[in-house]
Amino acid sequence: MSQKRTRQQQKRNKKRKSKIDSHKKVGSKLISPFNQIPNTSYMSWVNDRLPCMLWAGLLLNGLGRDRAIEIFREIGFHIGNLFREVENRECELPRVGIYGLSTLDDDLQDKFFELIFEEKKSVDALKPLVLIESLPLANKWRVYLGERLEEDKGLWTSLADTISMLLDHQSQESTDCRWAYLIPIINSGKVHLQNEQQFKEYIQYPHYEDQRKVRPSIRAMEMQFGDGMMDYEYFSEKKVWAGNFWKECKRETSCFMPKPELSCIEFDLIKTVSSVKTIWNDLSGHFAETDEFTHVQAKRDASFGFCFYALTLTLEGLASSGKLLTAKLALRMLAEIYITFKYLISLGDEKLWDVYRSYGSGQAKLTFLKLDEVLEDQPGYIKKKNIEALANEDIYLDFQNIDLGNWAKTDLRKMSQVAGCKDIYDAYYSWPSSYAHGQWCAVKDVVYTTCHNPLHRLHRIPRPSPRYEDGAEKDLILLFNKILDLLNDVYPSFEIRAGLVDNT
Ligand SMILES: [Zn+2]
Repeated sequence: MSQKRTRQQQKRNKKRKSKIDSHKKVGSKLISPFNQIPNTSYMSWVNDRLPCMLWAGLLLNGLGRDRAIEIFREIGFHIGNLFREVENRECELPRVGIYGLSTLDDDLQDKFFELIFEEKKSVDALKPLVLIESLPLANKWRVYLGERLEEDKGLWTSLADTISMLLDHQSQESTDCRWAYLIPIINSGKVHLQNEQQFKEYIQYPHYEDQRKVRPSIRAMEMQFGDGMMDYEYFSEKKVWAGNFWKECKRETSCFMPKPELSCIEFDLIKTVSSVKTIWNDLSGHFAETDEFTHVQAKRDASFGFCFYALTLTLEGLASSGKLLTAKLALRMLAEIYITFKYLISLGDEKLWDVYRSYGSGQAKLTFLKLDEVLEDQPGYIKKKNIEALANEDIYLDFQNIDLGNWAKTDLRKMSQVAGCKDIYDAYYSWPSSYAHGQWCAVKDVVYTTCHNPLHRLHRIPRPSPRYEDGAEKDLILLFNKILDLLNDVYPSFEIRAGLVDNT
């Protein structure tokens, strides 16, 4: 790698590292930067605030951005000023979200409807609102939009188009809607802006100043006001209406299952498995060539044993096309074997190989005792005789101690640090462990997909079959070869390595 590329890589690594560093460690948790801010808003954009901005989204969709923005500006100006003109109003703020409108004084509501329907095309654009049974101020909306008719069912598609535009809270359309919500409040004089400059940025949006700076500022302020500003009644009622809206969408429309990606095996499975299988004989040959004694040789037995065991795992992972769940589990097991093997070599302590071996025998004794004394229903996969023979292998079972916990009195992560292979731990142990433990993300990844109906808020639905798309075949081969490298270091020379046979 050239020096320039190395520096670029280091820069990238530094950037990545800073993302983890920006988390704050509290006990065993890493707290994300956003959650370190006190009094963070818990009203979600998609769940609670987006439904309130549907009228603005529908206008953007139906009239085009320029015309819609001008209507938002008109509403912002007139509603804001009208709010300011009357003292001791019942409503605290001129909120123009679909729920917020229902909390406004009558004169403000009437002004809103008058302004929005001055544009003739607004009727068609806003027509999908008639679909919503729980619509606040339904009577007022229906004066302009008419009653819901049977043929209006097709309007769910327009509603879905609008919502898909707004699901991303930072999209241009979402930001426009969030500005539409904010602008009457700004004009009402109920908010203290930093200075004249900020006032102009809001009032003249999106034509004044650098929008890369203005847009985030609008979103941040909308989040505060849309959240209710400690107005508990507004907060809870708005949540109820939003919840009802999403329930209706689910009830009235069907899920949309995305087409599963086509999955094909990207290597010649049969030829690869046959070729990797031949390494068993090569390993056996090398074992015989380097064997001088017949007494117990913990290091030798373990070193070759790791390789044969890794070969078995690799073959099974490959035979499952590298794509099945078991291929990921094979990767995790290979990573553990590699780290353990490298750790034993790195420490250079001959006695440690005995500890490793004796721990295993102790586990066999413990299992044997449990089969004998504890378990009434014997599991089919263990043969008691076999376990007894394993436990008795080196010394009589009666003299075998049983160690509890990790065999090396440490954990695999620390072992990988000591052995200088933390990269393998990070790349091949941590994530496959999620699959081994059945953690949520693994479960979600394999069995669920996201419904593509925007009216369903990107919820999860079961796939027609498990997701078998990511191939682990290259990683299986890589780890297996790394284990063979270790054997070559301690019992040279073993140069044979595994490889994938291409599909031709
Ligand atoms: Zn759905």
